[in-house]
Amino acid sequence: MNFTFAPAAPVSVPLVDQSAQFPVHRIYCVGRNYEEHAKEMGGTGREAPFFFMKPADALLYAVPGTTAHMPYPTLTANLHHEIELVVAIGTGGRNIAAADAHKHIFGYAVGLDMTRRDLQNDMKKQGRPWSIAKGFDHSAPIGPITPAAQVPDIDHATITLSVNGASRQSSTIAQLIWNIAETIEQLSNAWELKAGDLIFTGTPAGVGAVVAGDVMQGDVAGLCGIRVAVTAA
Ligand code: MN
Repeated sequence: MNFTFAPAAPVSVPLVDQSAQFPVHRIYCVGRNYEEHAKEMGGTGREAPFFFMKPADALLYAVPGTTAHMPYPTLTANLHHEIELVVAIGTGGRNIAAADAHKHIFGYAVGLDMTRRDLQNDMKKQGRPWSIAKGFDHSAPIGPITPAAQVPDIDHATITLSVNGASRQSSTIAQLIWNIAETIEQLSNAWELKAGDLIFTGTPAGVGAVVAGDVMQGDVAGLCGIRVAVTAA
């Protein structure tokens, strides 16, 4: 192939046992998918799911046992953490029934949907897109992917985030308004899912700001946790 310049390297996320890399296609995100978080964002907690996307190269891989570094983004003074369970799709499809969704899941990872909350609030008020608030560079820290067979009880796993050792977010995957299977059903009605897609499934209550120097520790029971330090821009 005769490219006009070298194409970007493919984006991938390692598996927990480091035996292979999961090649990333798209990143879908679910908004307001835990009732208490939906309420803290001003909703009723009983709304149909809605989706937004981040570019695949917004991923920031957090190597297990180390602290990853996320530069504080430009244009914001209110950078928020959102701890999320990430579902990795291994087999694509359209109009996937919730009852069949498990056949399409490759595995799971711990992720952070980092958000420029001030810009998101401005964009909401003006009815404008969220991209600048959600899809910025390094906005999606993620840990390694654990194959689904190794986490049979993911639907009831605890999900937690601490900042500098103090608890900020604590819930369970069972508290999802739209569970993993239902989310795959809804998403696949809107887009054809492909192998390599990642789904950030939403965050529980307790979102809040971080500043340069803060260290976030995110965990989902059964998965490899992530540790991410916010560094000065
Ligand atoms: Mn989110």
